[in-house]
Amino acid sequence: MTASVVLFTSDLRLHDHPPLRAALRAADRVVPLFVRDPAIEAAGFAPPNRLAFLADCLRDLDAGLRRRGGRLVVRSGDPVTAVREVLAETGAREVHLAAGASGYAARRERRLTTAVREAGGRLTAHEAVITALPPGAVTPQGTDHYAVFTPYLRRWNAEPLREPLAAPRAVRVPEALRSEPLPARDGVTGVSPGLAAGGEETGRRLLTRWLRSGLDGYADGHDDLPGDRTSRLSPHLHFGTVSAAEVVHRARAVGSGGAEAFVRQLCWRDFHHQVLAARPDAADADYRPRHDRWRTGAAADRDAEAWRTGRTGYPVIDAAMRQLRHEGWMHNRARLLTASFLTKTLYLDWRIGARHFLDLLVDGDVADNQLNWQWAAGTGTDTRPGRVLNPVRQGRRHDPDGSYVRRWVPELAGLAGPAVHEPWKLSATERARYDYPEPLVDLAAGTERFRRGREAG
Ligand code: FAD
Repeated sequence: MTASVVLFTSDLRLHDHPPLRAALRAADRVVPLFVRDPAIEAAGFAPPNRLAFLADCLRDLDAGLRRRGGRLVVRSGDPVTAVREVLAETGAREVHLAAGASGYAARRERRLTTAVREAGGRLTAHEAVITALPPGAVTPQGTDHYAVFTPYLRRWNAEPLREPLAAPRAVRVPEALRSEPLPARDGVTGVSPGLAAGGEETGRRLLTRWLRSGLDGYADGHDDLPGDRTSRLSPHLHFGTVSAAEVVHRARAVGSGGAEAFVRQLCWRDFHHQVLAARPDAADADYRPRHDRWRTGAAADRDAEAWRTGRTGYPVIDAAMRQLRHEGWMHNRARLLTASFLTKTLYLDWRIGARHFLDLLVDGDVADNQLNWQWAAGTGTDTRPGRVLNPVRQGRRHDPDGSYVRRWVPELAGLAGPAVHEPWKLSATERARYDYPEPLVDLAAGTERFRRGREAG
């Protein structure tokens, strides 16, 4: 008997999985290994919503493997130690995994390469498993990554993608290999009540339904807050229960008017991954420092807390923050508005907002979250770093009849139509009927404070 190992990380699927395919080719038995890494939990990257979704994904992956004659092997601890143990227990020599873009993934890969080599084996990190195109697949002349989206999109669109792979028919796993019990969603406390279900089967069903009946309206509808007309595939892309390359292929094959706009968003995902791969420090440090003098102190802390709890007095901002808490997910337009509000209107450090999002988002992802936050704060790749989004105008445009606000801010449910975006315009007697805060800040004064802060920096 020969054995090989496939180490699953952010690629919890059986369809279109190059590392699994390669591991199956290399030996007649494969160890499908998932390692629960306490370092990720200690660093605060495994909050309840993502742990619960992960539990769904692991159960589904195990079920899929069992249908093919195998099972998932789960261990806890340092992945390097776990892989070393599995190599010793099975005599396996080849280890396959997906290449990652974060600094953590790069360090893990380097340590694994050394450990596997010392054990007499070989580690292969497969590209284009987590992203559609690997970071570095297209680069501008003379530098290692694109810092501006549009030229990246042009090159990315022209680059051929690898063909998606079918799921294997059979996976034979060495017998008598120790595995810890699968984690259960029920065992996780503090999960958002409206959290979506995880797992490859759910992800593939969602993708198929989306391509059949959602994609067509995407170009016109993706900013429609109450209509909720985006794919909601982000947690599945984050955990890899659907493959980015396959999603692009299938969307292009549908080819409706919505396909181009939708594929463009998937390009944004690859774009951020290639920025992070080249500049891992951008997870925490300003990509383009603007020498901001972010507000600090008691008033700043109070404002940040009002933002987190959805009590800023700006209905569309509060609706979005409450959606995040309830679902562990937020609409992209709402993410843009809340991020602009925190960083530019309240002039608070983008890291405060990014941390809160990472604590709650089921799709919370270092590349996509930190770099979108930097984009919104004007310290990232945005070519208009001074742009400030006005929550009232944006609310009226993207929630024209106010129903998104009424859904998430029930205190204002009695206010009909777009008036719900400006409750401060009601008479004092009418206002007294609603238990809703006054605006935390005057919009013009907030913007002025941000501009002065930046100029002085
Ligand atoms: P769709 O509109 O259906 O788009 C399809 C896919 O394209 C998404 O699933 C996602 O993978 C990708 N995508 C869309 N927009 C972006 C974008 N701006 N940047 C990168 N990829 C994109 N996305 C995350 O996956 N994880 C995050 O942690 C995250 N944090 C964000 C923080 C801020 C401040 C902002 C402004 C955006 C953030 N996004 C993040 C991007 C985007 O908001 C979400 O991907 C999107 O809302 C997910 O919903 P959907 O799957 O219905 O998207």
